[in-house]
Amino acid sequence: MKLFYAIMLFILGSVLASFYGVLSTRGPIGESIVKPRSHCNKCKRVLHFYELIPILSYIFLGGQCRSCKTKLPIYEPISEIMLGLAFSLSYLYYGVSYEFFMALVLSSLALNIFISDFKYMIILDSPLVVSSILILIIRFIYQGYRGLLVSLGSGIFLFLLMLFIGFLGKKLFKRDALGGGDIKLSFVIGLSLASLSMPYVSYALIALIFSTFLALPYSFFSLSSEISREVPYGPFLISATCFVFVFLEKFSYLVNLFTI
Ligand SMILES: [Zn+2]
Repeated sequence: MKLFYAIMLFILGSVLASFYGVLSTRGPIGESIVKPRSHCNKCKRVLHFYELIPILSYIFLGGQCRSCKTKLPIYEPISEIMLGLAFSLSYLYYGVSYEFFMALVLSSLALNIFISDFKYMIILDSPLVVSSILILIIRFIYQGYRGLLVSLGSGIFLFLLMLFIGFLGKKLFKRDALGGGDIKLSFVIGLSLASLSMPYVSYALIALIFSTFLALPYSFFSLSSEISREVPYGPFLISATCFVFVFLEKFSYLVNLFTI
């Protein structure tokens, strides 16, 4: 039975990934997610339902449009497999628990940010708002009012901290060092990484510091090769958050250093 649920969760994850793909590529350019219907970006032909099945369609179509033979974006089947795996593995690892539901929310948010921030340098509001609400609901169900308050306090603290860092960066470098999306995202990071046994924002601060180390090699590579002058920070923030979330207990000895 456990395997059955894991397979169902894999399918759910891949279907959601395909929806997030549409949301994160259409949202930033102001297109609706329902109209126009899914179509080939080159020849504009509306896709049949059998061309919209996550992962399988890509394999059966040989990775190209049926009529104009344009290559389909490879990140689509990859993201569908990744989110499917994230959903089913977190079920197998955590069982139905607080960690499991949080993992569903965080992996979904991560995928949205990866697509829209790398592609358009934008973090959409809708995934941030939906994730915040879901996290607060999960907190309340599993941890009651105390979990809700600790989580909110941590979210607000991290949001204000990033707002201050952004303000400082702007004064020093005379340009936007942090995007508005990154600052809003830090609220969600604070919400998700507050720990009840250590009711401070220590884990969120670790994620913040860790994310700058993750972003450094990429920034260096992309600025030196002049791929782009701007580096998206969101994907590194959310990756660090997921990492700290999964290995939360392993960080407990470090936490004392960051206790405020
Ligand atoms: Zn086509």
